[in-house]
Amino acid sequence: MEATTELNLQAFCRFGKVLSVKMDAPWVIGGWEYATDGVICIRILTTKADGEKTGQPDAEALFKGFDPEKCDTPWLSGFVSDEIKTCCPQCDGDGYVYDVDGEQTRCIMCAGLGMAYVEMPRRINGIKIANLYDRLIQSLPGVQFSRADKPPTNKMIRFAFLGGQGAVMGLQE
Ligand SMILES: [Zn+2]
Repeated sequence: MEATTELNLQAFCRFGKVLSVKMDAPWVIGGWEYATDGVICIRILTTKADGEKTGQPDAEALFKGFDPEKCDTPWLSGFVSDEIKTCCPQCDGDGYVYDVDGEQTRCIMCAGLGMAYVEMPRRINGIKIANLYDRLIQSLPGVQFSRADKPPTNKMIRFAFLGGQGAVMGLQE
């Protein structure tokens, strides 16, 4: 399957500090182009030739035994997790914050109420997925996963999308 639109692989790479393991840019190996930030990894089919190995992680291992044909459960778009009302994380429940001039100003996140609704991470196959990664995965075309998949670690979810595959680590609990 070919991806219908060009994916922004860079969005899945690690920003900022370059670690000894190279994750700040996509790379090609064995007909796949990989991108990872150490928590999420995606790969898309490519006709590009293998690049030079310059310290990239062994991302191929993440997809061992993965069968995209068995992915039959859609990764729902939209955000369906419960929201809970909690002490506003922006103003710590004070209802106000200080602006750059040191003036007290009403907190815009909670409208001065001190309480805010926050999105709780939802679970996929019993694994809690950070909202950031949930959204990134939702941005991929036609994402599906399998409830029966057996990834290399039990904190990982693997998924298939049009033109590619991915894996994401769940939140620590
Ligand atoms: Zn607030």
